[in-house]
Amino acid sequence: MARYTGAVCRLCRRENKKLFLKGERCYTDKCAVTRRASVPGQHGKARKKTSEYGVQLRAKQQARRYYGILESQFLKYFEMAERKAGVTGENLLRICESRLDNVVYRLGFASSRKEARQLVLHGHYKVNGKKATIPSILLKPGDLITVVSKSDKLKGVTEAYSARPVPKWLECDKTNMTGKVVELPNREDIDLDVEEHLIVELYSK
Ligand code: SF4
Repeated sequence: MARYTGAVCRLCRRENKKLFLKGERCYTDKCAVTRRASVPGQHGKARKKTSEYGVQLRAKQQARRYYGILESQFLKYFEMAERKAGVTGENLLRICESRLDNVVYRLGFASSRKEARQLVLHGHYKVNGKKATIPSILLKPGDLITVVSKSDKLKGVTEAYSARPVPKWLECDKTNMTGKVVELPNREDIDLDVEEHLIVELYSK
């Protein structure tokens, strides 16, 4: 499975926005966006005017990087979103939110989406009683996520950032290490600060 392996704080600095890619560190003063707000690279501070295309591209890159999805997969999600009824941009974000790695992260069973993806790949979660090792599985309302027994003692699972609230479209039982998808999220339930219509405009060119 292809994935981005470069420096992740650099991605946040490029977007000039916290994308919360590093777990607990993102909530501390050590965050690179807090310490060095400029865009990385030799001409980072000099960059000024952005074209319409540039604005749309940045919106797409922010969403893609936030969820840790590569370009080809993100494009497939856009095509799926287009085929669904409703607003395409919202559909796109809803699809990204329903990925297993995102749901594990949102439930607080991992401190970042990257860690969630790794834990899923290593077989630490079950979906509806069956071991699930594909981070990109799309969950639906009613699906039950369980931390595999013995895995509930894993450092990454137990030390997830506890102050992070579980969104209302999910139900979490931290004592029994289980979670449930109650419904798929509405746009107001998704805390990603991006104008999704810009992504739709970019892909519709
Ligand atoms: Fe982004 Fe987290 Fe790094 Fe801050 S610490 S720059 S939010 S990945």
